[in-house]
Amino acid sequence: AEPAATEGPGRERAGSMNPYSGRLKSLRAAWLSGKTRPIEYRKKQLEALGRFLDEKKSDLFHALHEDLRKSAFESEISEVAFTKNEVMETLNNLDSWMKDEYMSKNLATKFDCAFIRKDPFGVVLIISPYNYPIGLALIPLVGAIAAGNCVVLKPSEISSSTERVLTEGLPSYLDPETFAVVTGGPEETTKLLENKFDYIFFTGSRNVGKIIMTAAAKHVTPLTLELGGKNPCYVDESCDFQNAANRIVWGKFLNAGQTCVAPDYVICSITTREKLMPCLQKAMHEFYGSNPRESPDFGRLVNNRSFQRVRALLKSGQVAIGGETDESDCYIAPTVLVDVKESEPVMQEEVFGPILPIFTVADLDEAIQFIKRRDPPLAAYAFSSNSKVVNQVLDFTSSGGFCGNDILMHMTLVSLPFGGVGYSGFGKYHGKFTFDTFTHYRASLLRGMGMESLNTLRYPPYANRNLGL
Ligand code: NAD
Repeated sequence: AEPAATEGPGRERAGSMNPYSGRLKSLRAAWLSGKTRPIEYRKKQLEALGRFLDEKKSDLFHALHEDLRKSAFESEISEVAFTKNEVMETLNNLDSWMKDEYMSKNLATKFDCAFIRKDPFGVVLIISPYNYPIGLALIPLVGAIAAGNCVVLKPSEISSSTERVLTEGLPSYLDPETFAVVTGGPEETTKLLENKFDYIFFTGSRNVGKIIMTAAAKHVTPLTLELGGKNPCYVDESCDFQNAANRIVWGKFLNAGQTCVAPDYVICSITTREKLMPCLQKAMHEFYGSNPRESPDFGRLVNNRSFQRVRALLKSGQVAIGGETDESDCYIAPTVLVDVKESEPVMQEEVFGPILPIFTVADLDEAIQFIKRRDPPLAAYAFSSNSKVVNQVLDFTSSGGFCGNDILMHMTLVSLPFGGVGYSGFGKYHGKFTFDTFTHYRASLLRGMGMESLNTLRYPPYANRNLGL
């Protein structure tokens, strides 16, 4: 075994073709040895991952605070406990998930054994983004390990404190022969992707997703792309406006708006907007106080580049609530914009920051047409006291996931698949879906050697076969 599982390009021997090829060669050797296949091995690794989350919790909280100014409570519910829940769900169900699935048969295979074998893919790669740098790296990892693969994890270099805790901590919990963390940004990842992987799981932006897909195509590597998009949030005229506002404000401003399933914009009629605005204001004030900058519960943009991009979006429409910024602290106040036009940047690009534009339409039909005209987002939301309205939005639009009368809550269920559609990506995970993602469903039929007379029907010569024509 090599001395450490953590690797930067500089560690490789001079003259090797690719800086990661040596490490990948040893991971492939471990894969071929069959070490990762037994259920006991997989469970041991998952238990170790659970211990990492427990024992490094305070380091992780500290890192998340440094990277994104996340509060400990938010870090616990949206990252550490969320990930631990996936570890436990998987440990509790792995025996049944791994079992061969016996399938129905036809006349010709009546006496045989037909089943789906749950095979691992081999050596898989997980690339994760900065915004939930623990869950988005480790939840796919749970499934990859559970399915019996060797894994290379490439955390985001942008959330650098969390990257450090993962890079320094994980290798002492997980088997260094079958697991490696690779650090670095676009340059290193490009080099890494020159190597052949058996599966790639990518979470990040659409543009980088296309780059990953192109790299995967070179090796015909299957992949999952978990991308972003503009998630609409329809608010109906018949609504408990304060409850709706509380839920929208929470889901939008969590992690300073850097949540892939946050409501990107509210879409509603002018009458609804007038009723919703004071309720949004009230919720924002109750959650973050009169100066959100002082609130320990409101985060920051991850870096200056992000800050610049999001601040530029404030030029769209009119600021109705918030709008204050402080570059030295990557701070943008929780903000609501009104009078935004479809052509303006805030309605064109994914906001991914604490700005909530309210886009007005005449009625529900126009809202549905507007949503349908655009790329299918990762999530869609609809608020109404009338369940028919909620169902209409569900029935006539498309999105990765949907939640009626709340925000984000659909993704807290391990029983529901999480993933995009169209430009918001493809593939799904969480709970058993993660295990399935990293599993090849191998069609298997076991026949006996006897009863040859039954087979003569399909052997040539066919000359005397009567097809009833
Ligand atoms: P990003 O695409 O910039 O980076 C994601 C990962 O790709 C990082 O590990 C990064 O190092 C790597 N990368 C960046 N450029 C690369 C290149 N040229 N070649 C190879 N690898 C490269 O994403 P981000 O800014 O970290 O995250 C924000 C985006 O992710 C948003 O669009 C958001 O919607 C999306 N997102 C989606 C989900 C989801 O579950 N669908 C979850 C979180 C975030």
